Amino acid sequence: MLRHSARRLLMPLLFGVLAVVGLVALANRKPAPLERVVDPTAALVAEMRVLYARIGAVLGWQLPPLVFTTAIANAASDGRNILVNLPWVRAMLDKHCNEPACAVAAIVGLLVHELTHHVYRDALIPAASWEEQRARERRADHNAGYVVASLGLDPAHLERVLGDPEFCCDLAHDPPWQRVLVVREGASIAWSAAA
Ligand SMILES: [Zn+2]
Repeated sequence: MLRHSARRLLMPLLFGVLAVVGLVALANRKPAPLERVVDPTAALVAEMRVLYARIGAVLGWQLPPLVFTTAIANAASDGRNILVNLPWVRAMLDKHCNEPACAVAAIVGLLVHELTHHVYRDALIPAASWEEQRARERRADHNAGYVVASLGLDPAHLERVLGDPEFCCDLAHDPPWQRVLVVREGASIAWSAAA
C-alpha cells in the first residue's frame, strides 16, 4: 500500500520537477540578437519618416505624403507626393555610408532635394528648356546643401552620394562634379549665416 502510494506520488512529482526545470531554462534563454529581430527595411522607413518630419518642423513647410514605391528609379516629386524607392536608398547608403551620421545627412539631402521640387511645383509646370530643367535641379541641390548644413550635418556625405558617377550624365542634371559644387555652395551660405 505504501509502495503503491509512493508510485502515485512519484509521477506528479517528476512532472513537477521537469516543468520547473523547463521554466527555468526558458527564463534563462538568451534573447535573439537585436539585428535579427528588427526588420532593417522597417527601421529605415521609420528613420526616414522621423527625418522627414524634422525637416518639415525646421523649415516650417507643409509636407506632402512620403510614399515608398519601386515604380521610380530613385526619388522624385510628382507634384502631390514625395516618392522614394527604398531598395535604391538602401543600396545608396550601403555604397557611400559606413556611419549613421552619413546616412542621416544623405537622407536629409535627398528628401530636401525632392521637397524643393515639390514646393516650386516643378513636376506640375513643365520646364521650357533643358537649361531651365538643370536650373531647377541646381536649386534643389543648393537647398539640400543649405538645409543639411543648417541642421549641423556634414554636406560631404551628400556630396559623395550626388558625386557618384551613377548620376552621370543626362540633359536634366549637371554632371556629378558640378552638383557637388552646388551642394557645397548651399552649405556655405548656411555656415556664413550661422557665423
Ligand atoms: Zn531633382
